[in-house]
Amino acid sequence: MYCPDVLLTPCPQVSPATIELTPEGGREEWAGSEWEEAQAGDPNIQTVKRYVEMHVLPGRPERQTLSLQSQRLLQQWKRLHVQNNILCRKVFDPQTHEVRHQIACPSAKSKEVWRSVHEATAHAGVERTLSRIRQRFYWPCMEGEVRQLQQGCVACSLQRERVEPRAPLKPIAVSYPLEVVGLDFLSLGRNTDTHPNILVATDLFTRYAWAVPT
Ligand SMILES: [Zn+2]
Repeated sequence: MYCPDVLLTPCPQVSPATIELTPEGGREEWAGSEWEEAQAGDPNIQTVKRYVEMHVLPGRPERQTLSLQSQRLLQQWKRLHVQNNILCRKVFDPQTHEVRHQIACPSAKSKEVWRSVHEATAHAGVERTLSRIRQRFYWPCMEGEVRQLQQGCVACSLQRERVEPRAPLKPIAVSYPLEVVGLDFLSLGRNTDTHPNILVATDLFTRYAWAVPT
């Protein structure tokens, strides 16, 4: 599912530096036939696939009659090819020096792909999630879409809240006995205890403590 903002904004040309792939991952299983079927249900991919199979890049006037998604896919013309009846995008992995064939992911499947990879990486950040997705898949404007999806991920937002910075702890300055007495309840969490909660009073100057069963 694409956000209207993403659709209306031209997708920037992808520079070689942004398609670097990492060697990790690849445990997720994606059946080839499933993607052949999924692509068959995506009119944008089918349009582009036909051009690729004919080895004919349509001229600019013809391209302008196509959907924005098809136009954006055609921007990858030099990398596009059909392998096992699946439209793929060829990229070079600079770390393993291997050529990867990314499946052109249909719009209806991109969220599912993101979720699978994002959960398999235990809710990794945008860059790592993108890197893992790029090992197998490509779709136009995927970076912007993945960033949006991660912004809306409940587990990630809970994690962000947990690591939000807190005010630093400061020592309490005391200069004479019984100036400040700290009070706290102590519980050992044992069901068999006669007194489950013990009130502990500590004089912060002498560190003398009283324990009062409650
Ligand atoms: Zn997440």
